[in-house]
Amino acid sequence: MTILVTGGAGYIGSHCVRQLIAAGQKVCVIDNLSRGHREAVPPQASFFQIDLLDTEQLTDIMKSQRIEKVIHFAALAYVGESVENPLPYYSNNTAGTISLLRAMRQSRVSQIVFSSSCATYGIPASIPVTEDSPQTPINPYGWSKLFIEQMLIDCAHSYPNFGFIGLRYFNVAGCTHDGALGEDHNPETHLIPNCLKTALGQQSQMTILGNDYPTADGTCIRDYIHVDDICAAHLLALDALTPEAQRFYNIGLGHGYSVLEVIKTAERVTGCEIPIEYHPRRPGDPPVLAASNEKISRELGWSPRYTSLEEIIRSAWNWFQTHPHGYEHKTGSHTGNEPKDHS
Ligand code: UDP
Repeated sequence: MTILVTGGAGYIGSHCVRQLIAAGQKVCVIDNLSRGHREAVPPQASFFQIDLLDTEQLTDIMKSQRIEKVIHFAALAYVGESVENPLPYYSNNTAGTISLLRAMRQSRVSQIVFSSSCATYGIPASIPVTEDSPQTPINPYGWSKLFIEQMLIDCAHSYPNFGFIGLRYFNVAGCTHDGALGEDHNPETHLIPNCLKTALGQQSQMTILGNDYPTADGTCIRDYIHVDDICAAHLLALDALTPEAQRFYNIGLGHGYSVLEVIKTAERVTGCEIPIEYHPRRPGDPPVLAASNEKISRELGWSPRYTSLEEIIRSAWNWFQTHPHGYEHKTGSHTGNEPKDHS
């Protein structure tokens, strides 16, 4: 059986490809490399640089590679960017998935694990968020994912043997334990990478996007989950995927940390001071997000291996120290902003 991984050159996709290969699966990666990195795809996987919107080529690949199941990561995933410029989100994410589903039908592939998001919940009525909470996104990224969830439900209703499992990620963070793969976004907008880039001296300070939220310290709270734990959930979902499957699961640790708590933890892990500056809120950000992971634990037997924010940030720090400029410019450890010696 060959698994097609869309977006397999991206941050989460590449970590998942690695786990699939380690588990003995045959993997075919497609990625348009608009944000992914060819270097992140291991040589054991076949690779095709194509765009999701190219239904014809997608269909050819699914047939020639004898694809049986799809794991669909490929997406644009910046909340702020989606507010500033929504159409690429609907085009790449939503229309891209229509193209993928068409190609699947044309090549008789009928099972898919889909990367959805906690952004589909909008501002949740209660925390932790359960899978049956109302879904009213407050940014185009969340809508682009919610439309896909509805398409999957409709396909399962109308097309015989169409099965799906949608995984709603909370905030994915960290890097694989041996530092071989990591997080290399351009532009980088995420909180933990930006903290670590500040610790490395690549930017002079951290910008806190809003400190007037209704939380204890006024900054947003998010549930950070290690990328390898997210990928482990995909392998379990793949096993649980049947022609009848129509399920959604949250993946998160079950509790959140504020932006200020993340920055303080990053200071402890790196031994570097991380100067901060307060800026206005970023449009599209809900104040608090934290997952109930009870359903995925109960039904798929998933549980996180990385249970502390410190461990998660340490794994990312390992990558950023050895790859201060990402995949293309791997260097030694001297950064010009060496950690203070606390001994
Ligand atoms: N954030 C921040 N400064 C940054 C990046 C992010 O204050 O440089 C905040 C952001 O407003 C949000 C939280 O950190 O409340 C997590 O943002 P991130 O972009 O990492 O993930 P998202 O929640 O958007 O998926």
